[in-house]
Amino acid sequence: MATKVLVVGSGVVGLRTAIELIHRRIRVHLISPRHPLHPSTCSMGAGGLWMPFHCTDSRTDRWSLETLNELTRLSSEKSSPAGKLVETLPAVVFSRNSQSAPSWSAHASGKSLDFKNLSIEDLYKQSESQRFRLPRKEVMKMAGYSHAWLFQTQIVDTPKMLMHMLNEIIASEYTDHVDVETDEYYTNIEELLIEAKERGCDGLVNCTGLGSKLLCNDASLIGARGILLHYDRASCVWNQKERGFISSVEAKTNLLQDSVITISEPPFGSETMPCYMIPRGDIVAVGGSYLVGDEEKGIRSSERRRILENAQNMGIDTKKSMCVSEWVGFRPYRSAMRLEVDEKLSSLSGVTVVHSYGCGGSGWTVFVGVASDNANLLETRMETGSHFDGRNEVHC
Ligand SMILES: Cc1cc2nc3c(=O)[nH]c(=O)nc-3n(C[C@H](O)[C@H](O)[C@H](O)COP(=O)(O)OP(=O)(O)OC[C@H]3O[C@@H](n4cnc5c(N)ncnc54)[C@H](O)[C@@H]3O)c2cc1C
Repeated sequence: MATKVLVVGSGVVGLRTAIELIHRRIRVHLISPRHPLHPSTCSMGAGGLWMPFHCTDSRTDRWSLETLNELTRLSSEKSSPAGKLVETLPAVVFSRNSQSAPSWSAHASGKSLDFKNLSIEDLYKQSESQRFRLPRKEVMKMAGYSHAWLFQTQIVDTPKMLMHMLNEIIASEYTDHVDVETDEYYTNIEELLIEAKERGCDGLVNCTGLGSKLLCNDASLIGARGILLHYDRASCVWNQKERGFISSVEAKTNLLQDSVITISEPPFGSETMPCYMIPRGDIVAVGGSYLVGDEEKGIRSSERRRILENAQNMGIDTKKSMCVSEWVGFRPYRSAMRLEVDEKLSSLSGVTVVHSYGCGGSGWTVFVGVASDNANLLETRMETGSHFDGRNEVHC
């Protein structure tokens, strides 16, 4: 029975897939052209927020729920190294009208989410007692926001979690080979197959994110450009005069809790230029954009101005707070994620090939469920030694 798998790609999907295989005692080779912390790795700069966003696959809710359960478990283990990298925070999604609750809230209700659909008055009443740090109520009301979703979510410190996962893989007795700085970008899937065969692998998982556009000649995979400014969280100065909290020191003594804020409706945000703030590890990430097909690698000055305004509207005093870095990333979006056995290639080559790319704006929201499905597909094929007969094809 085949038991050795080549995982290509060291973003969140590739690393978690390698870990899932190791846990199942399957031997692993892991390669990628760039280190997980290289800025070109989409997973590295991401906000790390658990909330399904631009991932329209019908399996999203299931993957998200599996991921939420794992992140909730981790965040409750504060003494464990991985537990320190996951933080539970309140998240608020502002809107101009009452919005029906999203499907993921129903699937996850009764779990840790504590999802509420509130009027703005009720939201601020709750925040009075629970001490959330929110934008000023008057500002939000004047701008026309009248309702909000409020829920407890999980935020992953993405760069540190990638390193944690990489170290776990390196340390495992089931790992045969790790090279995450090969500098080699493959240009077609056949090259990956040759690589797998040369290494004696009979399984291959393609976790190359947006790289699969070229690799698999997949025109349905598109990049959705996102932009972020990172503020130093510890020294962030908050301008929330309404409540008398003007500095992080005062905020801390009043036990004010950082919150995730997202707005995709005007005037502060829109579908293509959402306004959001995610406290993540040492930074507060402020965004953003969701621009399909935009390939600009830097942040345009008009965009920077817009994010600064967003930061101010969210309560950050941008003159006194330290902006430590900025980042541009390209979400690998596909209307349905390609997570399936490539039956034709697998039959022809004798190597079970699983594609796993296209999780859009939700990689950190679905990664646990996605990696588990990747491993299930490999294990099932490997155990049964099945070849393509048209019956066991998995459709997106
Ligand atoms: C601004 C922004 C904010 C985001 N915020 C969030 C958030 O808060 N929550 C959330 O859930 N998601 C968020 N996302 C989405 C999330 O980052 C992505 O869904 C996720 O990172 C995709 O992971 P991946 O492993 O598929 O791809 P990647 O992380 O891009 O990894 C791809 C890997 O493949 C390798 N590779 C690429 N091309 C080739 C090739 N030709 N040959 C070999 N290897 C190759 C790369 O080197 C890399 O190792 C955000 C994205 C952006 C841009």
